[in-house]
Amino acid sequence: MDIIFKDVEHRYHTNTPFERRALYNVNVSIASGSYVAIIGHTGSGKSTLLQHLNGLLQPTDGTVHVGDQIITNAKKSKHLKPLRKKVGIVFQFPEHQLFEETVEKDICFGPMNFGIPEEQAKKMARELLSLVGLPEEVLTKSPFELSGGQMRRVAIAGVLAMEPEVIVLDEPTAGLDPRGRKEIMEMFYRLHQEKQLTTILVTHSMEDAARYADEIIVMHRGTVLKKGTPKEIFREPNTLLEIGLDVPETILFQKKLEEKFGITITSPCLTVEE
Ligand code: ADP
Repeated sequence: MDIIFKDVEHRYHTNTPFERRALYNVNVSIASGSYVAIIGHTGSGKSTLLQHLNGLLQPTDGTVHVGDQIITNAKKSKHLKPLRKKVGIVFQFPEHQLFEETVEKDICFGPMNFGIPEEQAKKMARELLSLVGLPEEVLTKSPFELSGGQMRRVAIAGVLAMEPEVIVLDEPTAGLDPRGRKEIMEMFYRLHQEKQLTTILVTHSMEDAARYADEIIVMHRGTVLKKGTPKEIFREPNTLLEIGLDVPETILFQKKLEEKFGITITSPCLTVEE
């Protein structure tokens, strides 16, 4: 499913004194099966953009094409139910959305709501638990007995249970320790590779953007400032520094970039740490 934003504008609280333009002139496409990272300062519109992908938000102007589904201002959300299945969003701190008595019920909730028989949903839940790196005995536990990292994995399994064609990850590793972060990022990368799952990652980590993404979209003040391969984006780190992004400064990262993409960063803005 290709995704295309055409002249998208989004305003919150239209026609009220609180009206706020969060997106404007957004023209960008995401190819089916690609892995795209979205970077940008807080408030640049990343989260607003993401929520258009499954119709949680609709553009106040312009159109969003997700496969053959077109989201416009006129579409009412009930028409968008099939899209909710095709596009899975892992919001920040997804564990806050767990609510069932057991892990199994939580993972099965979405599929059963879409008419998957209970036994089939339970089988899926067991498989997904293993995929997200949790033991089977967790199934019968209350999600609230688990550690924060384990709860995160259960919530991710719940999104994957819908078998989405596109997965949207909004800072999926926020608050996890470095090991947990790496495990989760590697798991999503495997899924992307094995199932050609279109993956859209919002991240503050330039390392993750460089390591996993085929393309990077840079958001700034409600619009797309730049889109390109990691090589194209990191070749000009000044653009990122000028908009206040935290470009990694360590020589280690520069080396990694050189090894992976053959780029040498010589920007005077980058200081070198031993
Ligand atoms: P990001 O995800 O990059 O931090 P957001 O999409 O959350 O950016 O926000 C973009 C702009 O929209 C910001 O100015 C923010 O204050 C505003 N905004 C976001 N959500 C709402 C909302 N529910 N009501 C009003 N304004 C909002």
